[in-house]
Amino acid sequence: IVVLDKVHKSFGSLKVLDGVSFTVERGDVLVLIGRSGSGKSTALRCIDRFEKIDSGEIRVCDHRVDAADVDLRALRQDVGIVFQSYNLFPHLTIEQNITLAPVSVKGMKKPAARELAKAMLAKVGLSEKLDAYPEQLSGGQQQRAAIARSLAMQPKVMLFDEVTSALDPELTGEVLKVIERLAADGMTMVMVTHEMGFARGIADQVVFMHAGRVHEAGSASILSGPATPELAQFVGTGL
Ligand code: ATP
Ligand code: MG
Repeated sequence: IVVLDKVHKSFGSLKVLDGVSFTVERGDVLVLIGRSGSGKSTALRCIDRFEKIDSGEIRVCDHRVDAADVDLRALRQDVGIVFQSYNLFPHLTIEQNITLAPVSVKGMKKPAARELAKAMLAKVGLSEKLDAYPEQLSGGQQQRAAIARSLAMQPKVMLFDEVTSALDPELTGEVLKVIERLAADGMTMVMVTHEMGFARGIADQVVFMHAGRVHEAGSASILSGPATPELAQFVGTGL
């Protein structure tokens, strides 16, 4: 459902992705790990075409992401992305945040969209926050609302880029629980995280990036028995 094939991407003279390939099957969770600057976020952003790749191939569902004529609207309906922070529009209520895209992109009627917002918030355990503004929510609640907003577009794939790294430990848990439930419900996901314990529990596949390449990949067991010194060092330090 998600295929990267020999993806290359440079920013100026800086080679950030140097022939990255991986495949995510429907319903699977791929966890991307690696040192700061190894290209994890760039890889995610390429999947949603927030970055254009230099060469190689990216396919998501039936979208040929690297094609010049890719339908970005259709692609982004199928692929939701949640970042570390700044996910919600601060001047809109949680309901307005969630219903914005379904109403404007999908042409959904307001009352139906409100029901949808309620249903999505229930999924992430935030039913009572429909009319709140983002600043009235804790960081963990904001991230859960951001996930609810993505889910409202009924994506086929979800991308998560360090969604808990700005949060206190006690708020991290509630967000990870939501992601865990999504995975159990069969959502296909690609996730960048530094929560190794969580990665071990949820990953069908772990991809360790190093210097813009897939340095080591396999099941979650590579975290406990790394084959390369670079991954060993990475899991050893935990960062
Ligand atoms: P982190 O763990 O710190 O989030 P990362 O693995 O996500 O790191 P990327 O954000 O993909 O790393 O960045 C990889 C490299 O590309 C870094 O050296 C970064 O400075 C550079 N880079 C990323 N985005 C851009 C950009 N828009 N323009 C120029 N350089 C960029
Ligand atoms: Mg990053």
